[in-house]
Amino acid sequence: MFEKVNIVVIGGSFGGIGVAQNILASIPNVKVTLISTSKDWYFNIAAPRLLSWPNSTPFEKLIYPIKENFFSKYSAAQFEFIHGTAASLNTSAKTVTLSDSQSISYSYLVIATGSHTPAVDLGIPLKQSATDSLSGDIQSAQKRIADASSIVIGGSGAVAIEMAGELAEAYPKKCVTVVSASTRLLPMLGEKASALALKSLSNLGVKVLFGVRALEKGRNGKKEPIALDNGKVIEADLYIPATGVIPNSNFIPATLLDALGFLIITPEQKVSSPGVSAVYGIGDVTTSPSKMAVAVTQQIAVTVANLKNDIEKTGSRKAFQPGKLTMVVPIGGKAGVAQMGDLGGIVLWSWLVALIKGNYFLGVPFMISGLKKQ
Ligand SMILES: Cc1cc2nc3c(=O)[nH]c(=O)nc-3n(C[C@H](O)[C@H](O)[C@H](O)COP(=O)(O)OP(=O)(O)OC[C@H]3O[C@@H](n4cnc5c(N)ncnc54)[C@H](O)[C@@H]3O)c2cc1C
Repeated sequence: MFEKVNIVVIGGSFGGIGVAQNILASIPNVKVTLISTSKDWYFNIAAPRLLSWPNSTPFEKLIYPIKENFFSKYSAAQFEFIHGTAASLNTSAKTVTLSDSQSISYSYLVIATGSHTPAVDLGIPLKQSATDSLSGDIQSAQKRIADASSIVIGGSGAVAIEMAGELAEAYPKKCVTVVSASTRLLPMLGEKASALALKSLSNLGVKVLFGVRALEKGRNGKKEPIALDNGKVIEADLYIPATGVIPNSNFIPATLLDALGFLIITPEQKVSSPGVSAVYGIGDVTTSPSKMAVAVTQQIAVTVANLKNDIEKTGSRKAFQPGKLTMVVPIGGKAGVAQMGDLGGIVLWSWLVALIKGNYFLGVPFMISGLKKQ
């Protein structure tokens, strides 16, 4: 009887759960240990709607206990879930130390600790928060939003636009302002998509300020001026920053990170650094250019194929090739913007986006994530 190969995965979300499930399904004779700060998986893609419309979706359709929902069919010899936080990584000793000082050894490691947004730090769970009271955090954010009569959203990307659209539709009497540092919305897409986003937000009464940044860090129900970097101020009760993601990488040695703290990986999803072997990375925590759940699904396939090649010496090695940027951004329940990168960058009709994603996909977590519920 061969000893099982010990694969440790850190992070319990799109990347970590997906890679653990696929390893168990494709590589025999392994034991997978999944370590995650969060014991539940949160379908955060629906967060803008959930936070804006408190009774829109029952929590049990968006928050799933990981072990029971995704790994119930595996024995203790095949799978172990550790509810804990990685605090340090020693790639020479091949150990991960948790915040409670427990040390976990690995033969292979997959880092999938994702990212958080500045809003998460302010108690607005656009992503998984580090607390274990996600439902409570969501309810508290819903109340802060409901109580605010004026809300400023910082950012010009998909999350900022989606959040503004949902808020303006849910609360037509609130004053919703988007503060965009760039000179157009959705600057990563073409100008046609940007114009459509602006028109859809304007139709909902959202004000947009271009070429300016909010200097604010956050506030809670206090009507005070928010300073902008052009010297002006605007009044608001609530500030929601949607200005990009911050990698959850503070346990990883700095030599493996880029200047912004993302884990440097090769197209094989592997860490390639002197003295480091058998470490892979997937999802938002990595330098992969696609910070999207849909890209994570492809990265999982690459990682599992390469792990199989490492362990069994079979099959060919695979490389992740990011597709052309595709983005589908609902703006409330009746409009939206979508640019389909692999279809020549065509911009879809607004009503079709609302129908497909705004009204359907947000209620179907397992279709977008590729995770398999057991
Ligand atoms: C509001 C919003 C809407 C979005 N909509 C879309 C969309 O429509 N389509 C799309 O493709 N993408 C979308 N995204 C992006 C998508 O959410 C991310 O790409 C995806 O969550 C990345 O998954 P991940 O597994 O890499 O990491 P994450 O989802 O960030 O999860 C990381 C996990 O690791 C855990 N963790 C963190 N640190 C540690 C540690 N030290 N030890 C142990 N565990 C740890 C966390 O608790 C969490 O469970 C959206 C993002 C936001 C914010």
